[in-house]
Amino acid sequence: MSEDCSQSCGSCGEECGDRKVDFSEQPHELSRIKKVIGVVSGKGGVGKSMVTSLMAVSMKRQGYNTAILDADITGPSIPKAFGIKEKAMPTELGLFPISSKTGIEIMSINLLLEHDTDPVVWRGPVIANTVKQFWTDVIWGDVDYMFVDMPPGTGDVPLTVFQSLPVDGIIIVTSPQELVSMIVAKAVKMARMMNIPVIGLVENMSYFECPDCDKKHYLFGESRIEEVAKQYGIDVVAKMPIDSSLAGACDKGLIELFENNWLDHIVQTLEKSEKVDELFSPEFVGHDTLNHQGNRV
Ligand code: ADP
Repeated sequence: MSEDCSQSCGSCGEECGDRKVDFSEQPHELSRIKKVIGVVSGKGGVGKSMVTSLMAVSMKRQGYNTAILDADITGPSIPKAFGIKEKAMPTELGLFPISSKTGIEIMSINLLLEHDTDPVVWRGPVIANTVKQFWTDVIWGDVDYMFVDMPPGTGDVPLTVFQSLPVDGIIIVTSPQELVSMIVAKAVKMARMMNIPVIGLVENMSYFECPDCDKKHYLFGESRIEEVAKQYGIDVVAKMPIDSSLAGACDKGLIELFENNWLDHIVQTLEKSEKVDELFSPEFVGHDTLNHQGNRV
């Protein structure tokens, strides 16, 4: 690195080992997106899309302009939860998201496919590119909070999202049946490699509350989530029960009518947005970091 390095690699001709390759993508010129929150999980079916939807609904109820970018291209379930049947049509300016009944802006591959049941049989790079285009080519307008429903795991697409989008923080969703410790370890390490703060852990399907006696039943045994969270220096920010009326609301496309307070703690954390930056664990910054090609540096 030259002594008078300005860190502006884009405009510098020097070939040095410290050159930073920037894979970040600019959103559409008509999009102004303030905060991007990724919702991740280790595997499918644990309720990641459910948490994404409920977070968007909660922030909308607080009066924020809210959007959902459905990056779960092979398992898109967001439009169904919001009962969206229209298709997004490209225009000369770009692609407009579809507004839900309460005004949450949504883009998902299912809004572009002719039939909801058409499978997306694409290879990883094509899927990753589609997610990137949801960021660059969609006219999101003014958004205070965008929630990104990430594909499960730590593969190609999550890596692309982390590299291309300015993700401000992630929420990790687990369920008690999972190998929680390993899943959390992988998600936390990936986030730290990309220098993205972990807002916290949500344990979904944590318990079942008996409608007759209000007693909580831990169907999958006593949860170890607190222990695991402590091990990685993160917080358990919500525990959600198995709730048949929640599943029903989702199936009927009425998630926006569902009342709950399970995610209030995260809503408050996001509202004090400086908190998200504080969640950077300094000991991990610059340590075990990935460069923008996904290589360890
Ligand atoms: P993922 O995005 O992790 O694949 P989903 O959010 O699509 O998972 O949830 C999988 C299924 O489980 C959906 O049918 C959803 O309605 C249901 N579900 C998720 N969380 C709950 C819950 N807390 N109570 C009842 N059903 C739930």
